[in-house]
Amino acid sequence: MSVHVVIVGGGLAGLAAAAGLAGRPGLRITLLESRPRWGGRASSFVDQTTGETIDNCQHVALGCCTCFRHFCRTIGIEGMFCRERELTFIGPEGRTSRMAAAPLPAPLHLAPAFARFNFLSWRDKLGLARGLRALARTDPKSADAGSFLDWLKRHGQTPVAIDRFWHVVLVSALSETLDRIDVGHARKVFVDAFLANRHGWEVWLPTAPLDELYGPRLEAWLADRNVTCRLQCGASSVLMQVADGAISANPASPAGARATGVELRSGEQIDADEIVLAVPQNLVLPLLPDEYRSFPDLAGIERLETAPISSVHLWFDRPITRLRHATFVGRQSQWMFNRSAIQGGTTIHAPPPTPPLPRGGELDAEIRNPKSELSYYQVVISASRDVVERGQEATIRAVVDELAAVWPVVRDARLVHARLVTEHKAVVSMLPGVDWLRPAQQSPIENLQLAGDWTQTGWPGTMEGAVRSGYLAAENVLRRCGINAHLVQPDLPVALLSKILFGL
Ligand SMILES: Cc1cc2nc3c(=O)[nH]c(=O)nc-3n(C[C@H](O)[C@H](O)[C@H](O)COP(=O)(O)OP(=O)(O)OC[C@H]3O[C@@H](n4cnc5c(N)ncnc54)[C@H](O)[C@@H]3O)c2cc1C
Repeated sequence: MSVHVVIVGGGLAGLAAAAGLAGRPGLRITLLESRPRWGGRASSFVDQTTGETIDNCQHVALGCCTCFRHFCRTIGIEGMFCRERELTFIGPEGRTSRMAAAPLPAPLHLAPAFARFNFLSWRDKLGLARGLRALARTDPKSADAGSFLDWLKRHGQTPVAIDRFWHVVLVSALSETLDRIDVGHARKVFVDAFLANRHGWEVWLPTAPLDELYGPRLEAWLADRNVTCRLQCGASSVLMQVADGAISANPASPAGARATGVELRSGEQIDADEIVLAVPQNLVLPLLPDEYRSFPDLAGIERLETAPISSVHLWFDRPITRLRHATFVGRQSQWMFNRSAIQGGTTIHAPPPTPPLPRGGELDAEIRNPKSELSYYQVVISASRDVVERGQEATIRAVVDELAAVWPVVRDARLVHARLVTEHKAVVSMLPGVDWLRPAQQSPIENLQLAGDWTQTGWPGTMEGAVRSGYLAAENVLRRCGINAHLVQPDLPVALLSKILFGL
């Protein structure tokens, strides 16, 4: 008799759980996704004006994302990423600083690059080195309950170093402002990415739209391995069986309850022996009977807060820079990704001039030559609460002005099309003490696992966190079936010098 595992949610957590379970003898897996596409918050859609498939936002992985990279290797998409070993920082005055690793062991590999940052003074840099050392030596378990901003001030960081270094790194990594970041999570970013291993900081960028990575290709891979994949199948509730044997979506008492299946919005019921609930945190409790909201292990979920991320998509009639990407310091725009270059020099042909393009000032772009080749850029703004307030037109205008200040060619270029995409609940905010609110994958109901970047993974809300949670949930399911499997991958090894200097 096979064990039927139902996974609800086809984001990276659900997909990773499915990949971890796929092809195991004795298991039958059903993956349910409410939307018409896979990938959840890491997905693509067709831009109606250009007809091009674009991502909801540029997604970046780092070398230290060992589970995410294992997932990509497993499902055969690792070759669809490029590894970037050089970053360009553009300072507030428009001067560039290049960051690449020197042939030195970690944690010294980036020291020469930091030393050359032309947007920081020597005083800032010395303070920064001291701050990094103190942070690495902080025990994450006993890290104080205050915000990381408080910690930085206590450790003598100058306002310039805070604005131009700590903020720049963390707002991109955690999508939050420093006053809303937990010290332990800030430490993790710097230790894993910069201090422990010389490859941790390397940037991995998809060279194709996310849908090509996690869409039909992955669905076919899963289907070949005994996974039934169903899109547009939203679950409306998890069915429970209470101790007396009655099946109900709303049992009088959760004691001794077991999940027996899932009811879909269509009314269809699917029986299950094991369930993995891989939906966003705000959608978990509505799928469970009311009684479970007060379960101590689940009660914290409702208190998790989220942060928005915005991306400004710009199509110019000519290239504006040869750089593949750039990190901005001291500007509203945080990262620029040259998607045309990253996607292998693909040029995008201008579409026919319908529907009408936004009008007014620089955005008054008409497509005079429909055959012209367009250059596509994405500018990412994390923790974008200001953007939400300011609105599309003003934000696009401000971003184009910032690009023009860096690359004057923008003033001559024609902005053929532009759009702003904001994900309002992009990631869970890593607020001080947030880990107390994040539940483990094993829920209080023994055959119900939780998965998602918001669960307890030790990682912030990232693709790595999502894949880890899926792997952890899958390991629990396998253990319950008598199979001991290790899906979660070890971290990158810590360099000897980092152990000696920081006790990592
Ligand atoms: C704009 C933006 C930029 C980001 N940039 C980065 C980045 O650069 N690097 C990085 O590492 N991370 C980034 N992230 C975070 C990353 O996308 C997420 O951490 C990750 O994708 C979360 O995956 P998940 O599976 O946990 O959740 P989700 O992707 O939210 O998946 C949950 C799935 O469940 C489905 N669902 C919901 N309810 C039901 C139901 N009732 N029945 C069936 N299905 C249901 C949803 O449709 C969804 O597909 C970004 C996120 C956003 C939004």
